[in-house]
Amino acid sequence: MAEKESKQHSNNDYEIMIVGGGPAGISTWLHLYKYNPELASKCVLIEKEKYPRDKLCGGGVGAWSPYVLKHLGIDLKLPCVSVSDIEFIFQKDVFTLHQPNMFMMIQRTDFDHELAKIAIKRGLQLYENEEFHDFTNQNDCVKVKTNKRNYTLKILVGADGSLSRVRRKMNLSNMNHLAQTLEIYAPADTKYDQEYDKRKITVDMTPQTKGLQGYVWHVPCIKDNKPYIGHGLADFRVYQEKPKVNLKEIFSKELQQRNITIEQKLWRSHPIRWPQKDDVISKPHVILAGDAVGIEPAFGGGIHFALSYGDLAAQAIINAVTQKDYSFTDYNQRMQSHLVGKFLAKCTYVASQLYDNRMDPFEAAREVFTIKKV
Ligand SMILES: Cc1cc2nc3c(=O)[nH]c(=O)nc-3n(C[C@H](O)[C@H](O)[C@H](O)COP(=O)(O)OP(=O)(O)OC[C@H]3O[C@@H](n4cnc5c(N)ncnc54)[C@H](O)[C@@H]3O)c2cc1C
Repeated sequence: MAEKESKQHSNNDYEIMIVGGGPAGISTWLHLYKYNPELASKCVLIEKEKYPRDKLCGGGVGAWSPYVLKHLGIDLKLPCVSVSDIEFIFQKDVFTLHQPNMFMMIQRTDFDHELAKIAIKRGLQLYENEEFHDFTNQNDCVKVKTNKRNYTLKILVGADGSLSRVRRKMNLSNMNHLAQTLEIYAPADTKYDQEYDKRKITVDMTPQTKGLQGYVWHVPCIKDNKPYIGHGLADFRVYQEKPKVNLKEIFSKELQQRNITIEQKLWRSHPIRWPQKDDVISKPHVILAGDAVGIEPAFGGGIHFALSYGDLAAQAIINAVTQKDYSFTDYNQRMQSHLVGKFLAKCTYVASQLYDNRMDPFEAAREVFTIKKV
């Protein structure tokens, strides 16, 4: 798609490269374009897949996402289910959180593709099927090697997801905190699944009594024009010293209750990274954004984070170019004072309490899911 539409540039026309065309990478470019279009025209984005490409996700676009999209002048017209209720379950108790249009349940294949198309229309140079391999710092520049060519740049942005190769090549000494997930999609069966008809999300926190540091979700969506339910499980392992639980067993029981018999080999999994406050997230000429840094470890929502990481990264890039200082030594500090860092800190605290049985599960849910206007 994009390669045909993009104007041809030579490799050395670019000063900035964004690796990864998920919401964090595209949002970084869109913010750059909004704040400094000239700089945005010197930025290339590479994506190893070809759109429309899949990303394992529940597809709940919520929290402050609508404000970021509005700020970027984006009005998405996608097939979606608008959800105003989340039903939290803990043992025999149920707590329903109601906020009008709290979540827009989308398919990531459509959402990410649409964002990419909007950015391309605004002038983004996006190369699909191009995979980042390595970088080296040289003479106040960063040399980047991909599967297709070599680049000499001023700034490299790693927005390449929770298993970020850019991050790996930075040789950071941070601890790796990776939550495990399981997810499947099945057609909505009105006898067992109320989520589609009632336009609600179900979050079952009961498995926390078995030691799960996470929850099971059931979310409504539209797939191939048909009502579907996404069923998933996340285990954040905030307390790594606590015994591991058998995720497949927990998930299997949840699915049995819903009369779902999808074979285990068809269950899908992708890790969620969560960071710690003092993690190193930049090096000279290189910064990370989105899942490559990490998202909140209480419930694992990340699309709103990805969109806002774009604002954070764009502002840091503009500052570096204006000041001619590519050290990015203040990048972590910038994050701490940005909405991203503040909300991360709040949710990390909630997770530390929730997964040590020091906070009522419903109180934790209220803390994380009640979003005031930003
Ligand atoms: C099971 C599951 C369910 C989730 N459900 C939700 C939810 O309902 N709501 C929510 O808000 N969040 C959810 N999340 C989190 C959310 O999916 C992520 O936070 C979000 O996708 C992060 O966006 P990103 O752009 O940082 O990374 P990604 O979306 O992972 O995008 C990274 C991009 O980089 C590309 N890439 C990777 N390596 C390279 C390379 N070497 N070279 C070039 N390109 C590369 C990838 O192909 C990809 O397109 C869920 C996560 C999981 C695992």
